[in-house]
Amino acid sequence: MTLQLATSVKYLKGVGPKRAEALARLGIRTVGDLLYHAPHRYLDATTVTPLARAHVGEEVTCVGRVVSTGVLPTRKGLRVFRAVLRDASGLLECAWPGQPFLERQIKKGQLLLATGPVRYYHGRQLVPREFVILADEGEEGPEGGMVLPVYPATEGLTHRQIRSLIQQHLDALLALADDPHPQALSDAVGVPDLRSALTAVHRPATVADAELGRQRLAFDELFDQQLVQARARALAKRARAGIRFELRKEFTTRLKQHLPFELTGDQRRAVRDIADDMTAPLRMHRLLMGDVGTGKTVVALFAMLLALENDYQAAMMAPTELLAEQHGATLTRLLEPLALRPELLIGRLSAPEKAAARERIASGASRLVVGTHALIQESVRFRRLGLVVIDEQHRFGVEQRAALVEKGDAPDVLLLTATPIPRSLALTLYGDLDVTELRERPPGRGTVKTALRTEGARAKIYEFIRSECAAGRQAYVIYPVIDESERADLKAATTMAAALARAFPELRVGLVHGRQKPDERDGAMRAFRDGAIHILVATSVIEVGIDVPNATVMLIEHAERFGLAQLHQLRGRVGRGAAASHCILLCDVAAATPRLRAFTETTDGFRIAELDLQERGMGELAGARQSGGALLRYANFATDLPLLEAARRAAGQIIARDPTLAAPEHAAYRARIVARYERGFELFRVG
Ligand code: ADP
Ligand code: MG
Repeated sequence: MTLQLATSVKYLKGVGPKRAEALARLGIRTVGDLLYHAPHRYLDATTVTPLARAHVGEEVTCVGRVVSTGVLPTRKGLRVFRAVLRDASGLLECAWPGQPFLERQIKKGQLLLATGPVRYYHGRQLVPREFVILADEGEEGPEGGMVLPVYPATEGLTHRQIRSLIQQHLDALLALADDPHPQALSDAVGVPDLRSALTAVHRPATVADAELGRQRLAFDELFDQQLVQARARALAKRARAGIRFELRKEFTTRLKQHLPFELTGDQRRAVRDIADDMTAPLRMHRLLMGDVGTGKTVVALFAMLLALENDYQAAMMAPTELLAEQHGATLTRLLEPLALRPELLIGRLSAPEKAAARERIASGASRLVVGTHALIQESVRFRRLGLVVIDEQHRFGVEQRAALVEKGDAPDVLLLTATPIPRSLALTLYGDLDVTELRERPPGRGTVKTALRTEGARAKIYEFIRSECAAGRQAYVIYPVIDESERADLKAATTMAAALARAFPELRVGLVHGRQKPDERDGAMRAFRDGAIHILVATSVIEVGIDVPNATVMLIEHAERFGLAQLHQLRGRVGRGAAASHCILLCDVAAATPRLRAFTETTDGFRIAELDLQERGMGELAGARQSGGALLRYANFATDLPLLEAARRAAGQIIARDPTLAAPEHAAYRARIVARYERGFELFRVG
């Protein structure tokens, strides 16, 4: 039988049924899986210390012949395997406490590499963290050290066994690895060819060498993924004939003239991107991503006016009544000089009011409509809906977004989100969307200072809140849990609301949390917005969208309990007016970690999203890692953005030239994608 990458591992020498089962638990079923099994770290054992010079207290790597072995009990009854090594410089004892079974593996005469700390126990003794049998008795072996890959292991299969299995078969497996890329591509990206990369990963000369190999394999994973996305995007665009709006510059120009502020550079760029999309024959499908306060609404308004100028209607949907009202108020203000009035359609209106609004929408008398889910009710009909804007798009389900879109005849779609994500993730998760980022903040906004404080500062913080409120401002105080029954060791919103009401008898304290009825919660938020409440105690439900420019203090208790992205959303609730604002993170001394400190030092949501990604690591991003069905084993979203961008560029160029990868030089790409991606076949079917 000839070995192929698709051959089952059970045909490899050294793999019986038991091992095959254990390997399958690691996702290794074929010899190809074994070849691509990724080490999760490396142990650098390249610098070899002569046995005689291994000193107590040092970490060393030694290489020597085994001259004797034995198992001895210690006083504590622990059985210790020992082996004495010899090299040209002398002798050294190695000891493995609790591992008497090594007697069956390590034999007299073998050449052994061992790495670990040297301790004093009746003399110098090396306690290996790792060892490798370099040669058997009578065989020549390498005299130098090496870098040891450490592999993810599983029950019944140690990383050492996996390592020796891979080492044993590596040369045969490497012969099967054909490089799908032309040399020019690898060179342009700055990564080694495939065989060198796989060799470097499993048998690296240095740790840096292993990293270069990893980068090549990561590039390949990202490249496949980007080929799939480039193809999906191209197909989606082809299927998306849309409205071709014309730039008439009536309303838009007048809005520009009457805006009470200058657009930021990012806003201008976003308006231009959107106008380009809308005037193109294809349907717009764009995501506008920007921190709270970067001014997404105005950008969306320009898009809506462009639709209006073309005798179309535009609709904007927000996830809560409060947000819809807020947009309604903003748009009313901005549109006043243009003699336009937005229509507000929300659940709170009376039945006759709703009926009248629906009537105006159906007749076309209302051209610009703002609302909640009320917009997607069956009874709502538009005369001619040309643009759909969805605010906080992730808070709607796919069907809800589709329901609004279906109220028109192939309208353009603009999605807004205040949750920036790192570009690497956006490229992966939103591969079929065009993405515009707003990073710049409008000037003239009050600054937000962030401080990290511990319990000792509580009295001072309360004094500060008191003085801010006395000056007519308002404060938020956030807790991680609603009541003590959730976590007895944490301060909870309900109890602290009562405590704060006692501490601030002259002020009015309100409470919102996720277990209240929507009415009750909305009522409290409205009262806060209208200034009837001074201190709003809340759980993280507050993080979505509320805009109270008069609030200048955000106190977050047990700050360590919140993710960085969440803290950032909370902090975004203040600093919305002209006054200077303060975000205070209160936590135990022990919890005042570098992550919270890093948070106090930046207000860039994209930067925080990157920190958050690094912090959460890859674990929670299973969705992204699994994107489209293929697991990413080597790529790391937190660090591989340059590789991802290179992969996206290269993939885009190839799909532009050869959309179905039908050319012979792309056969290997195609085969890989069809085998590894669920949608692979469907996407790259010829014709
Ligand atoms: P976002 O929805 O992105 O959080 P908004 O669109 O609600 O932000 O804008 C926040 C506030 O900033 C609004 O009051 C808006 O009128 C104002 N604003 C928007 N763009 C600018 C700008 N370029 N200069 C000054 N103020 C701006
Ligand atoms: Mg907004």
